[in-house]
Amino acid sequence: MGSTKQRASLLTKHHKLPLIAPALAQAGVTVELSVGFDTDTLGTFAGEIPRTLSPVECVKTKAKLACQLSGLSFGLGSEGSFGAGPAPGLLNWDHEMLCWYNSARDHYIIASAAGPVPLSDLETNQLNLLHEHVVQHDAAQGWIIKHSTGLVKGLTGFSAVRQALEQAQLLNSATQLAQNVRLSPDLRAHFCPSRQQYIQQAAAQLAARLQALCPKCQTSDFWRKELQLGLPCSTCSYPTQRVKYYIKKCDCCGHTEQELPSEAFADPAYCPLCNP
Ligand SMILES: [Zn+2]
Ligand SMILES: [Zn+2]
Repeated sequence: MGSTKQRASLLTKHHKLPLIAPALAQAGVTVELSVGFDTDTLGTFAGEIPRTLSPVECVKTKAKLACQLSGLSFGLGSEGSFGAGPAPGLLNWDHEMLCWYNSARDHYIIASAAGPVPLSDLETNQLNLLHEHVVQHDAAQGWIIKHSTGLVKGLTGFSAVRQALEQAQLLNSATQLAQNVRLSPDLRAHFCPSRQQYIQQAAAQLAARLQALCPKCQTSDFWRKELQLGLPCSTCSYPTQRVKYYIKKCDCCGHTEQELPSEAFADPAYCPLCNP
């Protein structure tokens, strides 16, 4: 199974193919683009089209649609969501999912990666403040300008922002705008380098899972799916909230194996008795 070439269809319109295809090529999968469907009808980041599906349902829908539209046996869907994370409200947190759908088995694998996206909004009528804000960030990060009569997306670099303001006739002078405008990050994948990095990580995880074969039945995705807490404290042996072992499980035959974490004991800092 690992050596045969597989073709999978990716349903996307935001240029995610170069982020996903290289990792999957290493797992023997050729990714082809499916462009016959506007994924924005499933909801958009900027909120013009509300999202009715949960992110998990959405990514599964995309992967299955990719199969149906292409006629290939395997489909891929990609979906990011912002929010939650370790400091909700303080830190933008991006969770990227990449779903693999095997139509013959009607089986899904959802690989994921998550991390911070250090981006923020700014509302001002000062051109120099807009400039400062844009140059603080990755030069490839795109921006959205919202003003009283409209919204312009996909502005990369300060000159593009300035040009958009000129076209909207909002530049009163060299430094002042006619009104307050809101500058927000464009979070679409092809305008957001932070998201691109997490999409690549999710693709690498998916490639690893496609190559992780069950020792019993040789089906892919023999992967850590559950875990057991209770790693003993290195000082007093009390069970802590650290991982004692992971459970790798095959969705096809149900075979499981325990996998131990790299450390045999937990640091006393995690122990409720030694460090209450
Ligand atoms: Zn202890
Ligand atoms: Zn198995």
